[in-house]
This record gives sequence, structure tokens and C-alpha cells, in this order.
Amino acid sequence: MSPEWNLLPPEVRARIQEFQDVPPIRLPDLARALGVSVKAATLAPGISGEIRPAEGGNGFVIRINRHDPPKRQRFTVAHELAHFLLHRDEIGAGIEDDVLYRSNLSDRREHQANRLAADILMPDVLVGEAREEAEEIGVGDVVLHLAEIFGVSEAAMRIKVER
Ligand SMILES: [Zn+2]
Repeated sequence: MSPEWNLLPPEVRARIQEFQDVPPIRLPDLARALGVSVKAATLAPGISGEIRPAEGGNGFVIRINRHDPPKRQRFTVAHELAHFLLHRDEIGAGIEDDVLYRSNLSDRREHQANRLAADILMPDVLVGEAREEAEEIGVGDVVLHLAEIFGVSEAAMRIKVER
């Protein structure tokens, strides 16, 4: 798991792990448990997602671009949740991420959010188990198979498995 994962308070890690019992990770339920609502929306062209304080100041709202492919939308939700977990004090009136996950936060913050998003969607233990199983039953393309099971892009799973 990433340094960002290890930065989270133990109780927050435990909270997230409740939703990491089986793939695909139950992302909408996790967001809800953290007090964040998720909505698909038509966003400005070139914007993949955003997170803002909810109206009335109770929790946060993530909006994801409804025109993005489903796996991309999932990664965006995890990325915005990572901003919520790591950079809540810097969200201000809101953060908008473009298709390359760049916002008004620093590149360092964006990399942190991408690493934590990967940990949320592809926890080490679960990926390890699924990988062993896939190899035992002789799946042709293990990375592709795992990407399908976890609902992530093949590229994201390849980074996870081959690092
Ligand atoms: Zn971002």
C-alpha cells in the first residue's frame, strides 16, 4: 500500500476496509459511509470530476462526468474521495479535475490522490488473492482478468501488478 494509505488514521483505514471485502470494491457505499455523496453529471468538456462542500455545509459532493467510460468514472470517484481523505482542508469552495487529474492543487497532491485511489480500488491483499486464483485456474491474461474483476482499467491494474 502507498505512503498515503499509511498516513490515514487507523480508524479511517478500518472504515475503508469494511468495503474492500470482495471485488469490485463497493465504492458508492464507501463514499456514503464517509459522508460524501456521488452524482453523475454533465461537466464542462475536459473535466472528469469535482468535489465540493455540500449545500448547507453538511458533507461533500462528488460529481463525475457521465460521458466518461464506467471504469474511468470509478477511478474518478476514488480520486476525488482521496482528495477528501487527504486534502479536505484544501478543497475550499471546490476542486475540479481535468482528464489528466490536474486541478488547482499541486502535482504532488494529484499524485497522492492517484496513489490512494489505487489503494482504495485495488487493495494489496485482495488483488494478491484474486491473482493467485486466476493463475491456478489458468486464466489467459491475468492482468485483463483482474482489471475486469476489480472494475478498473487494464492500465491501472498493470501498474498495480507489475510494480
Ligand atoms: Zn485531483
